[in-house]
Amino acid sequence: MFETTIAGSLPKPAWLAEPETLWATWKFEGEALDRAKEDAALLWLKELEDAGVDIVSDGEQFRVHFVHGFLETLEGIDWNRKTQMGIRDNRYVVDVPTVTGPLRRSRPVHAHEVRFTRAHTTQRLKFTLPGPMTICDTIADDHYGRRADMAMALAEILNDEARELEAIGIDVIQFDEPAFNVFMDDVNEWGVDALNRAARGLSCKTAVHICYGYGIEANIEWKKTLGDEWRQYEQIFPVLNGSDIQQVSLECANSQVPHSLMTLLPDKELMVGVIDVASNQIETPEEVAAVIASANRYVDAERILPCTNCGMAPLARSVARGKIDALANGAALARKRHG
Ligand code: ZN
Repeated sequence: MFETTIAGSLPKPAWLAEPETLWATWKFEGEALDRAKEDAALLWLKELEDAGVDIVSDGEQFRVHFVHGFLETLEGIDWNRKTQMGIRDNRYVVDVPTVTGPLRRSRPVHAHEVRFTRAHTTQRLKFTLPGPMTICDTIADDHYGRRADMAMALAEILNDEARELEAIGIDVIQFDEPAFNVFMDDVNEWGVDALNRAARGLSCKTAVHICYGYGIEANIEWKKTLGDEWRQYEQIFPVLNGSDIQQVSLECANSQVPHSLMTLLPDKELMVGVIDVASNQIETPEEVAAVIASANRYVDAERILPCTNCGMAPLARSVARGKIDALANGAALARKRHG
């Protein structure tokens, strides 16, 4: 009961990349960089295990960003042709690479790092991949014409990758879809179809992470415009409940999401965000247990997995470490109370 996991990224150690920034530049190159990334992954595996987190991960130490890390090796993308794009419905403007031809995965993307991570832990291991819709909202399209078409092409590629990672021994494949909270009509029209395509044939656990973004300024400002109740989930959970995905990760800690919306996912396991990633304040176990108790009013305990709201990449390492402890200790407290 109340098995813990994290949503995604963890900070890169200061010796690996510039701390407390997204898109941080690496401090090594070539083989030295490969070794340094492995060292960082080992460090976080150990930290997660020591804290008592049940389902662990590499904390995305091998990639510069959760979307572009996957895209770097695909064919069909011109990285020199940058297009200015207002991503997440113009929440922030970024220069993004451009899709100029059919997308193809000519070789495995994450196999090496997953083999490495798998060899160094016996605990259940999660791996995160960007979801098709979120990728479409993070690169420019000058080939497919319709987002839905590009998403389906990406879903097939993601599926090939996910099947390989499952074969290496990944226990949970999670697709990150923060764009689901922005383009709710598209989610219902084609987003969930693309997600199902990405997860087709997988026998490991499958998950989708839908958050309100990293704790960066643009997201904090955006959240202020969403009003007293954030009801985006209400528009997508019914169709998501009919999807093939088994676990849904949602933002709950310090958010304005009404917890009652969890009743719209009666057939899913819920990764309940009990750790706020937009604050340096480290939660007390009591606070974490309170969010779990609130979720438990709407969802059976067996279906609740306490988790972080989102990735912790932009946080200071010491803060992330403290929050991991809070997650594990809060879940332990909740287990004692509800067990
Ligand atoms: Zn997130």
